Amino acid sequence: MEQDFNRQFTQCPSCGSDDRFFEQLGQELKDRGLAREEWQMSLAISQGVVVDKVKEAAIPIGSELPGYGYKTDICMDCGCVYAKDIRRTTVKKSLAPGPMELPPFDVRGN
Ligand SMILES: [Zn+2]
Repeated sequence: MEQDFNRQFTQCPSCGSDDRFFEQLGQELKDRGLAREEWQMSLAISQGVVVDKVKEAAIPIGSELPGYGYKTDICMDCGCVYAKDIRRTTVKKSLAPGPMELPPFDVRGN
């Protein structure tokens, strides 16, 4: 996989519709001037790092690990929940305990 892999899906993989439930809810705010044009509402937005918790402590500080981000929505015609944006990122292991610092992936939907 490419280090900067990123793919958007603009149609439902099941029925081909491009009507998405959360996106249209967000559009109502845009139409009323209550949200930015570039902002996009999603069902779920998630990002993280791929790591085996048993091996995590042995990974050297500064090591680059694969990370991910994705956004989902619901098809309004068939109810299928699907990813509309998936991306691979790279995350560096840092000294700080707790969650590793993730690259910017807009978790607020924009
Ligand atoms: Zn569909």
